[in-house]
Amino acid sequence: MDIIELVKKDLDKRAEIGLKKYGERLKPNNGRDALQDAYEEALDLANYLRQAIEERKVPDQCPSCKMGIHDISCPENPVKSLVRTNEECE
Ligand SMILES: [Zn+2]
Repeated sequence: MDIIELVKKDLDKRAEIGLKKYGERLKPNNGRDALQDAYEEALDLANYLRQAIEERKVPDQCPSCKMGIHDISCPENPVKSLVRTNEECE
């Protein structure tokens, strides 16, 4: 996988989106404050990065059963499907 090629494709896609949105590609002296726009984009980036960090954290407690390791009756327990009750076996 060539990352630079992937980024080039993303840049082309962004250019097309900008063209549709603003009627032209990004040009200098377009009336916008590029530094302010870039700063606001950086703020958004910080939020997305923090979101990703939060989402990759392994919770120390299951939101369903409130246990560190799932209770056997917890619907979130991935092992539950492998455990049969006596009723199912009969
Ligand atoms: Zn659980």
